[in-house]
Amino acid sequence: MVHWDVKGKSVLITGGASGLGAAYVQGFLKAGIKQVAVLDIAEDAGKQFTADMNKTYPGKVIFVKCDVGNEECITAAFNEVVAKFKTVDIVFNNAGIMNDAPHIWRKMCDVNVQGLISFTYKAIKHMRTDDGGAGGTIINIASVAAITKGDLLPAYSATKTAVLQFSQCIAGNLFEQAGIRILTLCPGPTDTPLLHNLKERGGDERAGEKLENVLTNSEVVTQSVDSAVKAMLKMYEDAENGSIWLTTDNKPVKNITPV
Ligand code: NAD
Repeated sequence: MVHWDVKGKSVLITGGASGLGAAYVQGFLKAGIKQVAVLDIAEDAGKQFTADMNKTYPGKVIFVKCDVGNEECITAAFNEVVAKFKTVDIVFNNAGIMNDAPHIWRKMCDVNVQGLISFTYKAIKHMRTDDGGAGGTIINIASVAAITKGDLLPAYSATKTAVLQFSQCIAGNLFEQAGIRILTLCPGPTDTPLLHNLKERGGDERAGEKLENVLTNSEVVTQSVDSAVKAMLKMYEDAENGSIWLTTDNKPVKNITPV
């Protein structure tokens, strides 16, 4: 079995300014990664986080403002990172939004699915060993919501199932042909701003119904961010192209069979 090591690698991560993305960045840095490009729509938070990281890991982290729901932003940001890093070894499609309110459906598809597809194709073109690239790994975030039948957030779950299916379909024999792994990460509920105080976050709804009316506290059992990071790094080290990894506290890493 091949053992992958993040040491010496360059990573581009979307949605890296807070929550799981920021925790993954810290995990990569602790594990000895060479450099990190944090892409996020939240400019102030992104710049602050990058400055904080560079205090401990001088010069290793750059911030690039990017709305992953906007194709022009994606192209500009990807090109900027390639120009700075020359080689990008890991593209981590982490950015995502979760809100089933009708006025968010289209935006959620753009961010959770369209942006991820676009970054994946750009990464494949950049990494292909059969076209002069250095190979690499693309990590796409789906969710436990992609593979379970919860009725809490059907539209969000649909976007995550799309991520899972897209990643499975495109993985094919990409590793044998072009030296690229496509990995799908399905975190269980994790204690981040996305989930934190879901019940109290007044704006969230499901098709017009306030979430606070459909959610009870007991329905969301969160895993720790630390555990999610540990599981992601283990997946990076061990997973084969096309793998889907579900990560929860109780079962830190489980390789599941797609349904
Ligand atoms: P979060 O809300 O804490 O952080 C998401 C980050 O993405 C933020 O920094 C935000 O600014 C950024 N972002 C949002 N829209 C963007 C856009 N258009 N362009 C660029 N950046 C954008 O969320 P999180 O919990 O850290 O979730 C990260 C990923 O993990 C998401 O894809 C989410 O669906 C997935 N996920 C989360 C959980 C969970 O329980 N937290 C579980 C399974 C999957």
